[in-house]
Amino acid sequence: MPELPEVETVRRWLAPALTGGRLVDVTLRREDLRYPIPVRAVSGAVGGQITAVRRRAKYLLLDVDPGAGPTQDTEPRSPHVASLLIHLGMSGRCWLGAAEDAPPWRDHEHWRMAFDTPAGPQLLRYQDARRFGALDVVWSATPHRLLTTLGPEPFDPAWTGARLYAETRGRRAAIKAVLMDAKRVVGVGNIYASEACWRARVHPLKPAGRVGRAACDRLVRSARDVLTEAIDAGGSTLKDFVGGDENPGYFQQRLDVYGRDGAPCHRCGERSQVTRTVLLARATFFCAACQR
Ligand SMILES: [Zn+2]
Repeated sequence: MPELPEVETVRRWLAPALTGGRLVDVTLRREDLRYPIPVRAVSGAVGGQITAVRRRAKYLLLDVDPGAGPTQDTEPRSPHVASLLIHLGMSGRCWLGAAEDAPPWRDHEHWRMAFDTPAGPQLLRYQDARRFGALDVVWSATPHRLLTTLGPEPFDPAWTGARLYAETRGRRAAIKAVLMDAKRVVGVGNIYASEACWRARVHPLKPAGRVGRAACDRLVRSARDVLTEAIDAGGSTLKDFVGGDENPGYFQQRLDVYGRDGAPCHRCGERSQVTRTVLLARATFFCAACQR
């Protein structure tokens, strides 16, 4: 499943290609993915200029300046589509390439967007075998229901050890579950939560309310570090994710505990092996000797 680092890498790849370009065509082969696609609204964005490609949690946002809109439509647009929202779901993948003469549709390819950009025509294609992804619009002046409940970004300076500490006092939920709660902080997926706990030397099942102030600082720092390293790794494996025919999977990144059950702890050596357990139906890995 694409996680925050994969989505951020896709964003970094789309942004320079599409920013400043104009959306000139949208082709939908179905009217729903995980949710219904607002077909008229998406089509109504045609003619708009892409002013930015942003990411919020795992949502890609193509900001659209409607400008004067299509030539036949001189009505002022209020409200108008402010952004196209793309979510990759479980198996969504994007292709971007110089627009050719209608390349054949791939299996499970659900939509295409054509852009006129300063570098020439570009075609963005979306493939999603399991169809848990989404294509939606964000209206101007109306918060989107999927975006309103989200906590801060992990790289947002507002997400601090002090905040994590304050939010978890009295809470019995496992600290790893809190790290994965998108209302507290977005983007710390299952692998990254296990890795952050190991780096911070905090047991993932420890009740959050009993995690001390210094440990909260270490958890925030560790979560940022593992995500940063994954994004950095993404640069080298990007082709596999956005263009090739291989399954994308996770970026190649050194993992200290995830998937290493029974192997020696990278901190304790042969004295302690990594243990696997299950928390909220998610595989969870830790070292019982150095994580408290
Ligand atoms: Zn250890």
